[in-house]
Amino acid sequence: MTLDFGVHASASGGVDKALQRAIDVTATSCQIFSKNERQWLAKPLDPGVVENFHRERERTGIKQMVIHDSYLINLASPKEDLLEKSMAAFTDELERGELLNIQNLVTHPGAHTGSGADAGIRTFAESLNRIFDALPDNHVITCLETTAGQGTTLGRSFEEIAAIIDLVEDKSRVGVCFDTCHTFAAGYDLRSEESTVAVFDEFDRVIGLDKLRVLHLNDSKQPFGSNKDRHDHIGQGEIGPAAFTAIVNDARLSGLPGIIETEAGEKNAFDLVNLATLRGYVR
Ligand SMILES: [Zn+2]
Ligand SMILES: [Zn+2]
Repeated sequence: MTLDFGVHASASGGVDKALQRAIDVTATSCQIFSKNERQWLAKPLDPGVVENFHRERERTGIKQMVIHDSYLINLASPKEDLLEKSMAAFTDELERGELLNIQNLVTHPGAHTGSGADAGIRTFAESLNRIFDALPDNHVITCLETTAGQGTTLGRSFEEIAAIIDLVEDKSRVGVCFDTCHTFAAGYDLRSEESTVAVFDEFDRVIGLDKLRVLHLNDSKQPFGSNKDRHDHIGQGEIGPAAFTAIVNDARLSGLPGIIETEAGEKNAFDLVNLATLRGYVR
């Protein structure tokens, strides 16, 4: 028993193309962008592509899927126009997820851009409440990703994530994505197996492991506590093999999608290596 190892697969040419790319590198779970992650507007998903996506899902046997939302979205913004744009874009992400029957939508919990963390947390939670109210029949779970804590970004501590969840009215619609690179950069000690187990104990105390739905498995090019987000190949960075060994063997995490977001390399060759490295840590 270990994680359901997956990859962030390119959806270029259509979201239906991602699934074959995932199994080509031995992934059994998969994360995608459902639209260009650096643009606000996207055409609606083509019904033929959606139909083929469902067929490909069946054919490849990939059950657990994740959408990562656009990097432009900031549901904690104090600027009214940016907030409205972000809410519309996030609503679209949830609707795409529903059409594609994808269980999880991972999002960074925004940036307060000067209004202060408390105000940012309130704005973010209020945005989610309004979006959820407007989509009562949507089944996609919004997963708040732990962040490296660069600049005014929220989500640098388990306490900030817990504070957001606390203000969300329908808690069944929110979960958490734990990113190893970000959490390490934010100052959580993933330098030994023991300290890694202790970090998940702390996660359980502050947020609750029942809220954990997705793991992003990335090593870090930047040192512990640097607040900088630079992914490295598994076992090759500042985190190293110990933390990943602890994670893939932790029974509390068993079955969760563990997605790599590391440099794919030519013909995705590095993805094959990184997934094999992770499987090699399983005892
Ligand atoms: Zn991530
Ligand atoms: Zn990252």
